Amino acid sequence: MAWWQEPLRAVTLEFPASDVATIDVKAIVDETARGHVNLLCVFATGYYPGGTAFYPSKTTLAYPGLNGRDLLQETIDAARGHGQKVIAYVASIWGGRDLYVAHPDWAQRKADGEITSWDDDYTSVAMCPNSPYRAHLADIVTEIGDRYDIDGFYFDEPSFQSWCSCRYCREKYAAEHQMELPLKEAWDDPNFQRFLDWRYAEIAAWRQELYDLAKTEDRCVFFQGAFPLACLQREPMALSGIAPRTSFYWQRFGVSWQVPMAHGDDMRRTAAIGDLVHIELYRRSVNEPLWWYGVCLRYVRSIAVDKPCLVLGMMAQSPFDLYGLPEAELRLSVADVLANSGAPLFARYYPDRVDQEAWDRVYGLFAEAEALALFLGSRESVKFAALLYSPSTYRRFDHVDGKPSHLGELKGFAKALLQAHILFDILTEDDLADRLADYEVLILPNASCLSVEAKAAIRSFVAAGGGLVGSYEAALHDETGLPTEDNLGSLFGIAYAPGGQDYQADSYMRMRSDHDLPIAIPAGKRVPTGGLQVKVQAAGASPVADLLGGAVVHYGPLGDEPIQPVALTQRMEKGRAVYLAPSIGVRYLELGVEDHRQLIAAAATWAAGHRPPIRLLNAPRHLAMTAFRQNGRTLVHLVSSVRDEVMSPIAELLPARLVKLEIVLTVEPGDVKLFGDTTSADWTFSDDILTIVISEVTAHVLVVVEET
Ligand SMILES: [Zn+2]
Repeated sequence: MAWWQEPLRAVTLEFPASDVATIDVKAIVDETARGHVNLLCVFATGYYPGGTAFYPSKTTLAYPGLNGRDLLQETIDAARGHGQKVIAYVASIWGGRDLYVAHPDWAQRKADGEITSWDDDYTSVAMCPNSPYRAHLADIVTEIGDRYDIDGFYFDEPSFQSWCSCRYCREKYAAEHQMELPLKEAWDDPNFQRFLDWRYAEIAAWRQELYDLAKTEDRCVFFQGAFPLACLQREPMALSGIAPRTSFYWQRFGVSWQVPMAHGDDMRRTAAIGDLVHIELYRRSVNEPLWWYGVCLRYVRSIAVDKPCLVLGMMAQSPFDLYGLPEAELRLSVADVLANSGAPLFARYYPDRVDQEAWDRVYGLFAEAEALALFLGSRESVKFAALLYSPSTYRRFDHVDGKPSHLGELKGFAKALLQAHILFDILTEDDLADRLADYEVLILPNASCLSVEAKAAIRSFVAAGGGLVGSYEAALHDETGLPTEDNLGSLFGIAYAPGGQDYQADSYMRMRSDHDLPIAIPAGKRVPTGGLQVKVQAAGASPVADLLGGAVVHYGPLGDEPIQPVALTQRMEKGRAVYLAPSIGVRYLELGVEDHRQLIAAAATWAAGHRPPIRLLNAPRHLAMTAFRQNGRTLVHLVSSVRDEVMSPIAELLPARLVKLEIVLTVEPGDVKLFGDTTSADWTFSDDILTIVISEVTAHVLVVVEET
């Protein structure tokens, strides 16, 4: 097994902004070794000033004040004594002032032709991989690889850090496509969609080239994966008394796209290239709650089945380092990463003047992670629900005004499933043909753009008895975004009515009395459902709730007559399906309507046709559950991570008492062990069900069930 397949606990030593003349590298490395760190990612070149080296380079300028020191070699020397692995960090895209002044044409250009620079002095300028800068970076990589006994390379930001409309990109695009490189967002324009494809292909080809250049058998090579499933914020972070400045990301990219797309990074292709997957989850920077970590890691498991995932996780009030982070946030972050099969990585910004108290907490958490190492690798999720992430739907429709987003719908469903303790994985369209059969139910959260092959896989899954849940425009378009008659209406038992969609400002759905869903919403109850819904009629399906006429103005008179069904169930010869006409996931995220959560959870369990093999009972909804099988073991993690904090860090832990776990097992367990907050529990086994009562879960508990 390659060394990077072992559970990793990693720290990046970020030398920029430290005093490179006085920094005591050995003392810092020794501290990380005492802190159970087994992987150091150490700056070989940095981003500010762009491209400067922390070793004596013949290829690029030295970091100011380095004075011949070799921080890379000093780190390697110190780490070797502790058996730690050392990865060379390479800032892949940033050139300094000298480089830019000598080669202004090498710079990336935004759509308006402006360069992307960190300041007005061109101290750090984004360089384009389609320019001769590509060869310059290759020389740096070769120099490091030839000269140092390192264990691998991490390439940070090999990406478009702007639109890129530089001369080289425009010429290359025009030559390959006989079209001008587009300079405006036009989501329904095939040339713009081609441009997005082209950006992905350019970055993937560059990453593959860097991999081939840096790779040797024992070296682990990997790439930045920035903020999966999250979008750049247009709004700047507001500070009282200071006029809001333009958002850093907005200034750089001028787009509010999902971050990997803004970078030109198709994460599936990057996952296929690197030896491990790396993702960045600074949730404050992209306004996401903590449970987003688990959603992102489920996505990574879908695109990189057998590769480890290193998670750079931080959530500070200022975007970087650990200052000001309460212990609860740190504990839950690391626990959620481990519970989702990730490996924690923290970046030591200003390594010579860190927040020591916070770092000591991190080391304590690493000690706990090390104690769990046996249970973290070579494991496979327990399969129940599959939630579809459809990149083609995202890129075709999520930026079109007036449409609920697929990504928002996915997250709303994910939150409701987490709160209902329903096990789920994320699949993408590419997985449907091969992996869908492992699951009991597939959820299409407004997954609107599906290929013919994807729909064929879904039809055979349902024909074999699989469950299906769809919301809003599920399967109404082909993979390019064109409306299609080849939809899944017959599986849902519905007919799409002409006129598309209905918008009601103040409107309600009324629950029927004689429906199938196992749900505690009383018949006749009006559940708020304002907004858009797809116009449908029942065509074989049984309505669960009907849309009532809405008020024309806010607080105007409400209608009382049913207009159309908005939730329907369909029993087929073998499979079951549920259709929800509103984008109920987005609505749940936006408004938190309790009945929407119940509807989503009930739809998933009813469509599956039976209960999940692992159930959590008497548990508060802030407990997230993941479950894995590993070599004769069942592993269940419970983490108190389903919290609503977005702007603030999580500062308090909420204990849950007498939580009951039921696990369907075919053989009597040999032993049940608990790790984390609680170390003891009562368990009984009868009728193939192992019942475990856990006295208390505060931050997290890992339950290990050993078969005999
Ligand atoms: Zn370019």
